[in-house]
Amino acid sequence: MKKKISNKIWKDILSEISTRVTGPSYNAWFKTLTPLSIDEEAGVLYFASTVDRVIQVLNMRYIPVFEESAEIVLKKKYKVVATLMSSDEIKENLGKTEERKPESASPRMASPSPENNEFREEYYANPKYNFDNFIVGPNNEYAHAVALAVAQSPAKLYNPLFIHGGSGLGKTHLMHAIGHYILENSPEMKVLYVSSEMFTTELIKALQDTRNKDRRMHSFTAKYRNVDVLLIDDIQFLEGKQSTQQEFFHTFESLHENGKQIVISSDRHPSKLTELDDRLRSRFQWNIVADIQPPDFETRVAILINKAEQENIEIDNDMLEVINLIAEKVKFNVRELESALTRIISYSTLFNKKITAKFATSTLSDIFKAEDYDISCETIKRAVCKHWSIKISDIESSKRKREYAFPRQVAMYLCREMTNLSLPQIGKYFGGRDHTTVMHAIDKIEKEIKDNPLFAQDIKNLKNDIY
Ligand code: ADP
Ligand code: MG
Repeated sequence: MKKKISNKIWKDILSEISTRVTGPSYNAWFKTLTPLSIDEEAGVLYFASTVDRVIQVLNMRYIPVFEESAEIVLKKKYKVVATLMSSDEIKENLGKTEERKPESASPRMASPSPENNEFREEYYANPKYNFDNFIVGPNNEYAHAVALAVAQSPAKLYNPLFIHGGSGLGKTHLMHAIGHYILENSPEMKVLYVSSEMFTTELIKALQDTRNKDRRMHSFTAKYRNVDVLLIDDIQFLEGKQSTQQEFFHTFESLHENGKQIVISSDRHPSKLTELDDRLRSRFQWNIVADIQPPDFETRVAILINKAEQENIEIDNDMLEVINLIAEKVKFNVRELESALTRIISYSTLFNKKITAKFATSTLSDIFKAEDYDISCETIKRAVCKHWSIKISDIESSKRKREYAFPRQVAMYLCREMTNLSLPQIGKYFGGRDHTTVMHAIDKIEKEIKDNPLFAQDIKNLKNDIY
């Protein structure tokens, strides 16, 4: 049952959000939202906006911040669903809260078929994630081709289809695209898209409901085993979760035996999902395993041009220069690539400035300084420590033994290579060392790479791991 989101709750959530995003982002993407309803049982909060861009940007970038803020206020994890609606639809929706299941709070999807409704409600797929909007390059052409083949002939060619690749490289996009394509061409098909996290949450809820456990488990099983197409995202989330894996195993068996299509995504190749049941790991490799790599420069430019066109931005020489600049800077994550562009566009609107390379350079350097490269330095430290089996605290400490000092120097070198941090900034990340120490470390590692081909290969592998 859906209830209204009270003004107080919405205010509190907004105030949490305001501490986590910049002022302009807060005004542009959150303040104008209409809170629609809360579904406590399903754990979903619904919001709407009449502005396409707001929904797009929210979904692209801010859902984690949104969910984190809501969790702090509501003391419970909720999924946030933000949907584009006309003002009439919003009114109608608000009128319906506290009645039974207001259907229209679910996002727009292709093909309204009555039998499908139950599934379509779950399937709050982003309509923009379709095949037309997916730019194909050497990095993803195989994954794209098999995804399209599955969409055209579900359960006939490649079953299961397993897609893997790093974060922000288009796995979810491809899965939604498969779903949209199938629903458009065969509206009678029951297509269910679910994140592994939602699958787990639902299962746990059913199991915890001591009074209605049998009924809840029955409807859980029925729901997942009656679909024609199951798209399950981020399966790595099931690692280490024995009972969820077991339930998923039975779901998989039942669907596969009955000739239903299963598409799975993961951040790793199945063989690297070491905390997963062997039976699942081997089944994931029964048919096609397709990877997505980071896009090359040309593909990055094509993605940005496509994105700018979607936003109705004219692509003049200045814009092209900006696009080149972004494509040079952001290499390993399409989500970040797009969000750099979105931010430049929204900053230019907010400050009423024409987009030029100069404007872009200063805006981007703010953005990069503020967030992205923090993360990379941590990632580098983690990867290096794992490689040499030492603790993060060792690398940040002042211990001078070679077993710590050498990995520390490597990590500093990699930070210099792979992030935009300055030498003093890098020093800060390693227990407040000064920039001459960092410089010395970099020189030393550079020399070692030149002199020692085996070590050079080691560093290459480490870099790959980090990407
Ligand atoms: P993942 O699920 O692999 O983390 P997503 O599918 O969420 O990544 O993609 C992140 C963002 O990048 C989305 O907005 C998606 O539309 C966009 N994107 C990724 N790859 C492509 C591509 N090849 N063409 C166009 N957009 C892409
Ligand atoms: Mg994803």
